[in-house]
Amino acid sequence: EVRTRYAPSPTGHLHIGGARTALFSYLWARKNGGSFIVRIEDTDVERNVEQAAEKQMDGLKWLGIDWDEGMEKGGPHAPYRSMERTDIYREYLEKLLKSGHAYPCYCTQEELERDREKQLAEGVAPKYVGRCRNLTPEQRAEREAEGRKPSIRFRVPQGRTIVIQDEVRGEVRFESDGIGDFIVARPDGRPTYNFAVVVDDALMEITHVVRGEEHLSNTPRQVLIYEALGFEAPVFAHASLILNPDGKKMSKRDESVIQFIDQYKELGYLPEAIVNFLALLGWAPEGDKAEEEIFSKEELVDLFSLNRVSKAPAVFDTGKLKWMNNHYIKQSSLERITALALPHLQKAGRVPKELTDEKREWVTRLVGLYQEQLDYVAQIVELSDMFFRTEVDYSDEAREVLAQEHVPEVAAAFISQIEQAEDLEPDTVKTLLKNVQKETGYKGKQLFMPVRAAVTGQTHGPDLRETISLLGADTVISRLQHYLT
Ligand code: GLU
Repeated sequence: EVRTRYAPSPTGHLHIGGARTALFSYLWARKNGGSFIVRIEDTDVERNVEQAAEKQMDGLKWLGIDWDEGMEKGGPHAPYRSMERTDIYREYLEKLLKSGHAYPCYCTQEELERDREKQLAEGVAPKYVGRCRNLTPEQRAEREAEGRKPSIRFRVPQGRTIVIQDEVRGEVRFESDGIGDFIVARPDGRPTYNFAVVVDDALMEITHVVRGEEHLSNTPRQVLIYEALGFEAPVFAHASLILNPDGKKMSKRDESVIQFIDQYKELGYLPEAIVNFLALLGWAPEGDKAEEEIFSKEELVDLFSLNRVSKAPAVFDTGKLKWMNNHYIKQSSLERITALALPHLQKAGRVPKELTDEKREWVTRLVGLYQEQLDYVAQIVELSDMFFRTEVDYSDEAREVLAQEHVPEVAAAFISQIEQAEDLEPDTVKTLLKNVQKETGYKGKQLFMPVRAAVTGQTHGPDLRETISLLGADTVISRLQHYLT
């Protein structure tokens, strides 16, 4: 059985990088009819953020990335939160100590810092000097007697080449001599990431570890721990970095890209668009599908494979994401988009909190007017701005149109048509404009452009009849009159 996992550290909201890792893991499990596990790696307690685990899970749920085992779900390998598994780690730590694969290290922070500075000054890459590697039992007892609390270091074998067969990168080699003995448990007994992740992945029978390239340098360390504990290592797949639109490595502080899933949700991006977009961030399907861009989650499950994940960094193309989201918005029902748009219009004070049926109907039509244009739903506020102003802002083009000699006649005729009309349904508007045409002799562009310009302040925009109908007789008349005076 294929078993994959997403193992976030609870340091904040679900990030696009994490979401992509989760998605790739999820797709690979689903594709193979396997299991997807979500567990929380929270042993780095100083970095833990309250509620971050919940936020991570909320993000996954919203994206439709569901899991079979793990947080909230439970399962045969519970608990799924590292800090609740400390007894388990202790057991394996004992094993490492017994077999001599690990040893207590009594070095102080000051000693370690001095070593580091010396190495840097000599131009060598810093690594642990091995001071406590071969202490005799007596030397250990001495240090214990001084009350020193040891951390536990893994004894990295010397002169080894560690070869990793990465599903994405192919063969990756590391020389063990470049890796200093590293800490697997802190003086208070808490394991470090590199140790806990191995114990968890092994006991949870993870077959494929999918994660970001930033973890590649941890992998040889983990492989050594697998060996030392007699576990079989999983298959690794390290997805490439995500670059921001400028081609620079994306950092969490980068402001050129919105980075957190909940922010996309808040702006009215649709989960299926985000999933589609993230899937293509460093992956492409094979063969004739390679040129296509739009994939449902089901299609992705069907087409996904780890060996099509790209080694090359993936550039985050905001324009493409908007295009994709617009595609999914257009495909969605008007009800869905209206429900998403309403809170934005309410927050902007455009629409009251409590809606009459009539107002609800009006809002639905308003959203319908702009649905095709929306890159993200929150845009409705700026796009529909002219519906909520008493005075229109005329664009330069609109001013030019309105400066034509025949326009006052058209405007006056349209006012009188509206005044005589029983209602302002789109069909009625059509008839009224026909009447203006008959009365004035102006038609086509000569008729519609001035009307649009006077009523909306723009020379282009959504359907004119529906726009006029939604603005209502009073507003349309007052705008026409304002133009005339
Ligand atoms: N807890 C690690 C992180 O959040 C996960 C690393 C891994 O997948 O092994 O980056």
